[in-house]
Amino acid sequence: MSPADGALPADPTGPLAIGVDVGGTKTAVVVTDERDRLFAERTVPTERAGLADQLITLVRGTVEDLDAPAARVMAVGLAVPGHVDRRRGTVRLAVNLSEGEMQLAALVREGTGLPTVVEHDVRAAAAWLYDRDRTPNLAYLSVGTGIAAGLVVGGRLVEGATGLAGEVGHVVADPNGPICTCGLRGCLEAVAAGPAIARLFLERSTAAGTDVRQDVAAGWVFEAATHRDPIANEVVATVAAHLARAVRALVLGFGVERVVIGGGVAGAGEALLQPILHAIDEERRVSALVDAAMSTITIELLSPDLNAGARGAAAIARSELLVT
Ligand SMILES: [Zn+2]
Repeated sequence: MSPADGALPADPTGPLAIGVDVGGTKTAVVVTDERDRLFAERTVPTERAGLADQLITLVRGTVEDLDAPAARVMAVGLAVPGHVDRRRGTVRLAVNLSEGEMQLAALVREGTGLPTVVEHDVRAAAAWLYDRDRTPNLAYLSVGTGIAAGLVVGGRLVEGATGLAGEVGHVVADPNGPICTCGLRGCLEAVAAGPAIARLFLERSTAAGTDVRQDVAAGWVFEAATHRDPIANEVVATVAAHLARAVRALVLGFGVERVVIGGGVAGAGEALLQPILHAIDEERRVSALVDAAMSTITIELLSPDLNAGARGAAAIARSELLVT
């Protein structure tokens, strides 16, 4: 286990914290110091059944494997999707993980002996992005197993009255679309998240009578689109139009000046970004209002390999739980 960039920093600055980003498919773990330098990093498949036990084992294993003195790991930050109650350390309505309420902070604290805090996964990533260059109004749009946005407005992380601010994955994108994991029909998540992209490709291939592998994943669809597969191209254009509308909603709804698109699907890189930019250009061409709103907006991708959610969670754990 070693940082992505290879060389381990010689000495941590301040206490080390562990950040864990629990995704619907994968869970990423990092150890960082006060300067956000990586001391360890690993990614494992998420075990939805027995999640708390998996997290305890991961945290303990990470501390044991660490080259730096274990005693310097002082806190744990968990970044999780769903309705996060930071004060109580609980998560519920994480529709891609579990139906019930999970007492994650208490369970991990008891299982590891380390103070533990939970934060919404995309808010943790948005906080990490904000810490990097202090863009005062930004949105982090995560597209993975699910879809959600983390918002910074006026230099403050937005939680909203219910703690569900930014759950744009459950805003209806297609009233005639499929039923979403949340129970509603045609949510953005149900038509543009990773599983939806794969499903759409399979449906359209089957309808066209094309023989296609059944275990196709979103990344494969983007790859096929770059090789001019006509069905993949059609699916990517449809998904990009949905995501372009989500970007527009974030810009018009919250006045953000920067939209960063991340999550597992962002691993497709330019094959995802360019169709979104194209769809936004189309909207700007027909609407002077959208043109004015979007003219100064920066839209960029964040590689999932950077583990922004886990790094943000580690930073939040340090600032919430430790006096340094
Ligand atoms: Zn939904």
